[in-house]
Amino acid sequence: MKSAICKPFISCSMMHTCRECRQSFEISAADLKFYDHISPVFQEKKYLVPPPTLCPDCRQQRRIVWRNERKLYKRSCDLCQKNMLSMFSDTVPFPVYCVHCWWSDRWNPLEYAQDFDFSKPFFEQFAALSKKVPHLGLSVLQESMENSEYCNHAGYLKDCYLIVNSDDRMNRKNASMEKG
Ligand SMILES: [Zn+2]
Ligand SMILES: [Zn+2]
Repeated sequence: MKSAICKPFISCSMMHTCRECRQSFEISAADLKFYDHISPVFQEKKYLVPPPTLCPDCRQQRRIVWRNERKLYKRSCDLCQKNMLSMFSDTVPFPVYCVHCWWSDRWNPLEYAQDFDFSKPFFEQFAALSKKVPHLGLSVLQESMENSEYCNHAGYLKDCYLIVNSDDRMNRKNASMEKG
């Protein structure tokens, strides 16, 4: 169901000033059509998703700011207590498990399930939950790695060092976003 208000709204592009970096950026007619398309309808009332106030680069920064890929810490696994490398330091509020423990049946993620409280904001509850749930220490395909401990978000590496976001590599160091 399309409201009468949003029809002219989606017909043309507009220029905006990013509220973070003050650069000018375009919100195209296709963007507006997309926001209209994903706007939810509850009880026949459409709740329009507003156009962004940040430019695409600032939006991307905000999406990935929480994600640490390249800084690795020595710490212990909170389940087996063995030493490991991790993208999380030992000061984070949540438990961190090594790759072996994380994928094992020695813990049950469903134990952290909780009911949603409709009287409180979603993100407040999400933040509280994420401080309780165990996190994967290092995102690697452990069985496919050979002599490549200091790598993250990676798989199928041999004799590699400080490789991030990459796979199928040999004898490489300090590279990222590579494949093949
Ligand atoms: Zn910006
Ligand atoms: Zn462990």
